[in-house]
Amino acid sequence: MLKNNKVAPTINATLERERLMSLINSMADGVIALDQKAKIVVVNGAALNILNVNISLTSKSIKDVIKVIDKNNQVVNIQKMILDAKKPVSSRDLRLVYEDGEMINLLLSISPVRMGFGKEDTGGYVLLLRDITREKSLEEERDEFISVVSHELRTPITIAEGNISNVEMLLEKSNIDNVTIKDALKQAHSQTTFLAGLINDLSTLSRAEKGKLSVEVEPINVHDLLCELTEDYEKEIQDKNLELKTSIDPRLEALSSSRLYVKEILQNFITNAIKYTQKGYIMIGANQSDGGVEFFVTDTGIGIAKNEQEKVFDKFFRSEDYRTRASNGTGLGLYVTVKLARLIHGEISCESELNKGSTFKITIPNLS
Ligand code: ADP
Repeated sequence: MLKNNKVAPTINATLERERLMSLINSMADGVIALDQKAKIVVVNGAALNILNVNISLTSKSIKDVIKVIDKNNQVVNIQKMILDAKKPVSSRDLRLVYEDGEMINLLLSISPVRMGFGKEDTGGYVLLLRDITREKSLEEERDEFISVVSHELRTPITIAEGNISNVEMLLEKSNIDNVTIKDALKQAHSQTTFLAGLINDLSTLSRAEKGKLSVEVEPINVHDLLCELTEDYEKEIQDKNLELKTSIDPRLEALSSSRLYVKEILQNFITNAIKYTQKGYIMIGANQSDGGVEFFVTDTGIGIAKNEQEKVFDKFFRSEDYRTRASNGTGLGLYVTVKLARLIHGEISCESELNKGSTFKITIPNLS
């Protein structure tokens, strides 16, 4: 009886371990478990395949097994990266370098293993590895295609848009009062403006995804910037019979950031507010905040349903609401806005109520 009692747990433990190992070994992704000092405890077959080794890696230090470089070809200190991970982190921008100099694109996820619920100390780490070379090359091809197409389309569309706008102005000044021509031109103008915006979003997006967007910090006179924006959109807002309001904090100080990106972000908020508002007003404003400026654009438009509010920043997301679908859009504007906001460390938030309206805010810190 006593003997049985002693033996049973050992058999159980061995069985459990074998079961766990076969489970880990049947995974398509590489899995490596490490102890607190980043020494290897368990490796599955897929990880050995990715690392291209057929020897036992147990108790080896991870830094002697994996050599990775980042997208700027700089060697990454993998040991430090792992030991610094206080919560799960993952990167798609690393390349694994083999002994012979060959490389693959690697998806690497690092998860610290907690010793118990709520406990801070780690009992080691679990790494997940996946060869994403093919996905990366498809992504690169897609980005290259978008970059070439948007570059090639930009000039003809700008010329067409400029010409249509000139003819509209000439017609306005002349005595010709042909409603059909005016309507046709108005439509052509609005469609070319939409195309120009789309090309601009695609081009910004592809440059952002290639890490090619640089930030030029300069002092921004926030008051002047808001006046410029209200002037730019005044006519469009009036044409829709909407009221334009401004709310500018008198304590505003100069902001040190990228004027280009701040303006582009606010333009995206304002064009959306105009597009998705049929009656009421649009308010553009700024408040001084700790170490920066909080900008906001409020509208009394169609609003966004609660279950869609998180998704509005996703790539290509457009609401299913028929009132959204009634206007042109690509679902890229807010996605690009988030990319630009990240570059200048801005924090975006959205508050909205269906059928009442929305407020999009961005808090931008002073950059040195
Ligand atoms: P687009 O406007 O081209 O569709 P965006 O990325 O700018 O793309 O916005 C994504 C979606 O978020 C929109 O399609 C719309 O459903 C919603 N949205 C954005 N701004 C507003 C707003 N001010 N009011 C209501 N819905 C909005």
